[in-house]
Amino acid sequence: ATPPAVLAAAGLTVQYGSSTVAVRDLDLEVRPGEVVAILGSNGAGKTSLLRAFSGAVGTHGGRVVGGTIRHRGSSITGRSADERVRRGIVQVPEGRQVFGTLSVEENLRIGAYCKRLGRLEMHTRLDRAFDTFPVLGDRRRQLAGLLSGGEQQMLAIARAMMADPDVLLLDEPSLGLAPRIVDQVSQILEAINDAGTSMLIVEQNAHVALELADRAYVLAVGESVLDGFADELKASPEIQAAYLGGE
Ligand code: ATP
Repeated sequence: ATPPAVLAAAGLTVQYGSSTVAVRDLDLEVRPGEVVAILGSNGAGKTSLLRAFSGAVGTHGGRVVGGTIRHRGSSITGRSADERVRRGIVQVPEGRQVFGTLSVEENLRIGAYCKRLGRLEMHTRLDRAFDTFPVLGDRRRQLAGLLSGGEQQMLAIARAMMADPDVLLLDEPSLGLAPRIVDQVSQILEAINDAGTSMLIVEQNAHVALELADRAYVLAVGESVLDGFADELKASPEIQAAYLGGE
């Protein structure tokens, strides 16, 4: 039998207030080991979808009003964000959301807070983070607020990795970064995926998203209007016209 999806939404509907439906009746899966991208223009519902998976939708005044969310076959609809982190569903916040007045190392320690790690395990994970991100090792005692935009995005990813995630939720990992840094971040995400972590990525930059992803879904006003393998979508005239600059 095929194993259950790492993450699955069925009939998912997310609403803000009494009338704004941000996501409507959406079916989506992240299979084990996959990188899945969500494309779509401003206001399409991408961030709301990510919040529904992370459990953060309520803290933004929204609600899941229909459908179910499963993690490896178990329903997590309505479970708290903390419980989801303990299960391995971990959001990488946008880079600018690191704790600027705390050091790099303190930011990383916070990433593991849900796991109640012993000192030895904490050190193992910090060492692993500094191995993957040498630039963070060089700056472990510096305030995170003094890092460059690219370094802050790396710190956000490294912090999420401290929780030893099963699946990462990424919101616009390339936003505001120079092309060279976007390449570096992409390479790190690829290496993390190769080591076994599945990913759901919201990304305005369709070039970046379709390079990284195995599959993608295109959202428009809260509904999935197209989905498929990234290679097929890259070759699709519709996608090229709408998202890849029409070349
Ligand atoms: P963007 O890339 O601009 O963030 P998006 O595809 O991520 O767009 P969402 O941010 O999920 O889309 O927004 C989907 C719809 O939900 C929009 O109509 C938006 O105005 C509305 N919305 C999003 N967040 C909230 C909120 N906190 N309160 C009320 N309405 C919201």
